[in-house]
Amino acid sequence: MTEPPLAEHENERLAALYRLDILDTPPEEPFEHVIALVRSVLDVPMAAVSLVDKDRQWFKAQEGLNASETDRSVSFCTHTIAKDEPFSVPDALEDPRFSTNSLVTGEPGIRSYAGVPLRTHDGFAVGALCAMDRKPRRFTDAEMEMLANFARIVENEFALRRMAEQDSMTGALTRRAFWDQVRHEMQRYKRHGRPCSLVLGDLDHFKHVNDTYGHPAGDAVLTEVPSLVLATKRTMDVLGRLGGEEFALLLPDTEESDGFRAVERFRKLLAGHEIVLPSGETLRVTASFGIAGLTPDILTVEAWMKRADEALYRAKRAGRNRCECAADEPR
Ligand code: GH3
Ligand code: MG
Ligand code: MG
Repeated sequence: MTEPPLAEHENERLAALYRLDILDTPPEEPFEHVIALVRSVLDVPMAAVSLVDKDRQWFKAQEGLNASETDRSVSFCTHTIAKDEPFSVPDALEDPRFSTNSLVTGEPGIRSYAGVPLRTHDGFAVGALCAMDRKPRRFTDAEMEMLANFARIVENEFALRRMAEQDSMTGALTRRAFWDQVRHEMQRYKRHGRPCSLVLGDLDHFKHVNDTYGHPAGDAVLTEVPSLVLATKRTMDVLGRLGGEEFALLLPDTEESDGFRAVERFRKLLAGHEIVLPSGETLRVTASFGIAGLTPDILTVEAWMKRADEALYRAKRAGRNRCECAADEPR
């Protein structure tokens, strides 16, 4: 049996798969539904949403396979993602790539296969939607087309899962989703050299707010501040909640100096903004910010974050309610 080929950019492909955060999660109705449709529309005994991990394929949904995963070495779908296009095998016993495959010679007895790559929103083939039969079968163009349409539904489900990555309290992106976006922006920068800035913000003396007004009041402030950011930011800017009262803002196409001016506008707006608490009391809060423009010497997300964090730390030390720039950091 020939070794299954590796997809191009295998490491990036795996990173995209892990970002989906879907491996080893429980069954979910939309995927089950697609599999049932594939089975009845294509009239096959076996179908699966297969995600191709480093050394295994794991089934987000499957019927007829009686396994939750298999070794990658026997996976048909790994061939589909390597080709990065629809792939079919009319008779596995006649195909030297599969004739000695244990899934062909033993259970579940796959004899024919049709698969379509499943891609993430940024274009990486992370798995395949596949239909399999126990007898030889030539899948028609129309059938492959139908399978491709079902694959689009699965991809949309991937996208919907991403949308669930919003913090319910604040509407900001979750930590993981935010860093995903940052990574994405870094790649764009490498490719096109577009400027980009990262802002870290931390509310000032927030413990004092909790201690004085109570935790529910603190929570009210924590929903108000991000909604103020969301109302004033540009559409392409991305807001993330990194932790309790720590937020981050990604400003694409923005030099550090321009980003600084934008943050200063927001900082002043916040400081003058009266927040009405559930109790009816009002209060004002301030925040400190650090901004770091992306520069060629920043190679990792962590390094970029550290740059912005150092600037934020200086803002705190210098008395709070201010924004500091990484460019001004003595080095
Ligand atoms: P500093 O100006 O140095 O930032 O002072 P700080 O009091 O804000 O200190 P720090 O940022 O270290 O502490 C964050 C505090 O924010 C700790 C906790 O009391 C509060 N906090 C964190 N997460 C939440 C949350 O989800 N809800 C509420 N109500 N408070 C939170
Ligand atoms: Mg903090
Ligand atoms: Mg704080």
